[in-house]
This record gives sequence, C-alpha cells and structure tokens, in this order.
Amino acid sequence: MGKRYIMAFKIFNTLSRQQEVFTPTRPPTVGMYTCGPTVYNYAHIGNFRAYVFEDLLRRYLGYLGYQPRQVMNLTDVDDKTIRGAQAAGLPLDEYTRKFKDAFFADLQTLNIARAEFYPAATEHIPEMIALIETLLDKGFAYHSADHSIYFEINRFPAYGRLAHLDMAGLKPGARIAQDEYQKENAADFALWKAWTPEDGEVFWDSPWGRGRPGWHLECSAMSMKYLGAGFDLHTGGMDNIFPHHEDEIAQSEAATGVPFVTYWMHCAHLVVDGRKMSKSLGNFYTLRDLLERGYSGREIRYVLASAHYRQTLNFNLASLDAARAALRRADEFRERLAAQAAAPGKTPAWLEEARMSFRRAMDDDLNTSMALAALFDLIHEGNRRLDAGELPAPEAAATLTILDDIDRVFGFLAPAPETAPEDLVQMAEERRRARAARNWAEADRLRDMIAARGWTIQDAADGFKLKRNAP
Ligand code: AMP
Ligand code: ZN
Repeated sequence: MGKRYIMAFKIFNTLSRQQEVFTPTRPPTVGMYTCGPTVYNYAHIGNFRAYVFEDLLRRYLGYLGYQPRQVMNLTDVDDKTIRGAQAAGLPLDEYTRKFKDAFFADLQTLNIARAEFYPAATEHIPEMIALIETLLDKGFAYHSADHSIYFEINRFPAYGRLAHLDMAGLKPGARIAQDEYQKENAADFALWKAWTPEDGEVFWDSPWGRGRPGWHLECSAMSMKYLGAGFDLHTGGMDNIFPHHEDEIAQSEAATGVPFVTYWMHCAHLVVDGRKMSKSLGNFYTLRDLLERGYSGREIRYVLASAHYRQTLNFNLASLDAARAALRRADEFRERLAAQAAAPGKTPAWLEEARMSFRRAMDDDLNTSMALAALFDLIHEGNRRLDAGELPAPEAAATLTILDDIDRVFGFLAPAPETAPEDLVQMAEERRRARAARNWAEADRLRDMIAARGWTIQDAADGFKLKRNAP
C-alpha cells in the first residue's frame, strides 16, 4: 500500500464552497437540522432523494461513533398547505394529518432511520412570535402598512453569503410576501403575514394582530429550540439554499448574534429528462406510484443512495431494474456465505482492505457511489474465493459481519423487514370491518390497494396476517 490513510470525515460545506474536515462542537453529539416535508401532498421521490441523503449522513455519523441529535421539521402551515386545505374543503390540521401519516409510513418503507425530533410548525407558534419580537427589538424587522412584519436585509450585512448573491443591484426596501422566490428577487421577506380573507380559518393571535408565520421563520425557531443558537449541521436540497436557508441564517444570527450553523450540506436534484422532479412540473413519482408498479422500498432506496449526493441523479425505471439485479447479487452472496459460515475468525487482510475502501469513500464527502463500488468489489472477490474453495468458514462469517457493518450505513442489504407498514395494517383492519359488514366491494377495493403495495392479506380465524409478496 502507498501513503498511509489518515482517517477524517470530510464534507463539502456550501458556505465555504470547499471540502472541510468535519469537527463537531460538542462531540460525540452532532446537532443536525434537516428541512422536512411541506405536508400538502405525498412526498415525491425527488424529496426522498434529499431524505435518503440525510439518512446516509446520519447513519455514517453513527458509524463513526458520533451521536446525531437530528431535528426534521414538518411544515404544516405555509402558502401551499393553506391553498391545499381550501381546495379540499378541510380544516388545515385535518388536511395535513393525512400527509404527515403518509410521510412516516414512507420513511419506514425506505428504511430511513428516525430523527430524534419531528416538530410541527403549528405547535411552535409562541417560539416564532418570540423570535420576531427579538428581531423587532433589535431593529432588524419592521411593520408594513398591512400589519405584516418584514426582515430588513440591508440591516444584515452578511445577507447573501450562503447563496453568493451579488447585493449591489438590490433595490432597498423591496418586499416579497411569498414563501418561495428567485435569487433575482432578493428582497425583504415576511416574518409574519397579516391575516387576509384568503387565509380563511388559518390564523394565530399575536402582539401585531391575527396572522401566521413565514416559512423561513419556522425553521429558525424550531432548529434553535431543539439544537441551541449555534449547531453543527444543516442540510436540504439545493433548491433550499435560496431563499430558505439564506433567510434562516439572517433571522437566526440577527437575533442571537452568534453563528447559526457550522456546516451546510445540500444535495443535487433528482431529475427526469433533465428537469428537476417537482410537483409544479407534474413530472413526479411518489413512492406509492413506484410500489404500485411492483418495486420495493429497498430497490428505491438503492437507487437514491447509489449516486453521490452532489451529483444530479437522472431517474428512470431502468435504474430500479438495475437495482433489483444488484440486490439479488448481494442476496445470493449472503446466502452462499451463510451456508458456509461458522464463528467469525480474525478478519483477513483482503476484507480489512474492503472495509477501508468503504470508509475512505464515505470519508470523501460521503461518496456513496465509490463506497458501493467497494462493496461490489468485495462481493466479486468473495464469490471468487467461494468458487475456488478459498473462503474458510470463519472467514465467511467475518465477511457477513463486514456486510452487516456496511449495511448500518447503506440500509438496503438486509432483506426488508417482514412487518407491514402501519398504514397497510390500518387498511387491512378496515377491510376486516368491511367484510364483517358484508360490504364486499369496499373489502375488495382495500384488498387491491394492499396488493398494489406488494402485500397479501391472509385471513385467519382470529383476524388476518399480512405477508409480503416475493419480489
Ligand atoms: P419541500 O417539501 O418542497 O419543502 O421539499 C422537501 C425537501 O425535498 C427539500 O429538502 C427539498 O430541497 C428537497 N427536494 C425537492 N425536490 C427535489 C428534487 N427533485 N431532488 C432532490 N431534492 C428535492
Ligand atoms: Zn427549513
């Protein structure tokens, strides 16, 4: 071997546009905030690319011996959720509840490890009001004629540092009320939006009258509540850099006077035919769409995890078929090893090297595509040794141990768990009730929906069992 490898986890920090060695402030704890879903619809797999990237990051931190303290917010009040609830004719909380539940079921399908906290915006309005009061007191915010409150970006000289904005051409005093806007429109943004008739029943009382918080403010208030004024890591998709994260920095640092986040990480987009997968373009698959086509959560996770997070991922169904073949190869290898294995012996050099290749790849800004190549090199070499009768039983067992170790991060090697997701159990329960009421059409409809997700109901004397169909 050449140069001795010095182990250090390096990550690309959006703030410095450079790779930096990751050094948390209070090890072994790592404070980590990941912008969560806006619960106005089912999340699409572009969103899940971001969540799988964050899950790989979280799991790799754990692999390195850190203890992540992860917060993922649920945006359950913003322009989109309010519009969605009105279109559906439902109260906001009833409308968002359905998508919150679906989100957690989807996380389970994709084997995404749970964060420590999932704060919902609507449950943190007092914290948001307090943050706005601080910003008013310190002179960073002002009232507009309609009783909304805006952040004055000219008062915050570091504004634009994350997104690398050119502030020269900015019109002083220009204001923007929407939650989302383009770089070209950098302007004072709303912290608190005064109630308008379009908001219907959605409002909270505040010292400035009825209204609701702006989206950016939600994340500042909730991240600092659970992680403190300054914390280690903040992540999201690239589209979050501006204005969302830029505005989070401005609000938080203006209020506390201390640096908000040390490392910012953003994943590139998942695209279809060169265009970002998004609700507004209509070019999206939800996780459910893909399960209905017979793909498993494990296969989808594999595709999302296989590209380096800073590389654009071009999605198509062929990549899911390739994932299926790759996972079959990994499964067959494990079966061969299991048939052989005894108590694990000392790890031989070739396996130690495979483990180091994995580690080196992940240390290099979470290079999952290289790490995956290392894994398949290991499988190739292991199969070769098995074919040649050169893999003694204790070595086979040691190989299985290393695969399990790697899978603590990848999370797709172990066969999928046999417990059905909670929403399927609920559907099966509804079907049982429909049958008891002799409502056969409804019972059949539910059975078909469950089948579309790849599970079969087996009726039993004392209820039912859900069995996963063979892939
Ligand atoms: P949203 O619900 O729109 O706030 O998005 C939730 C998360 O998904 C954010 O971190 C976004 O940056 C991310 N995201 C949205 N679309 C894509 C995409 N096509 N590829 C990767 N990440 C995305
Ligand atoms: Zn956010």
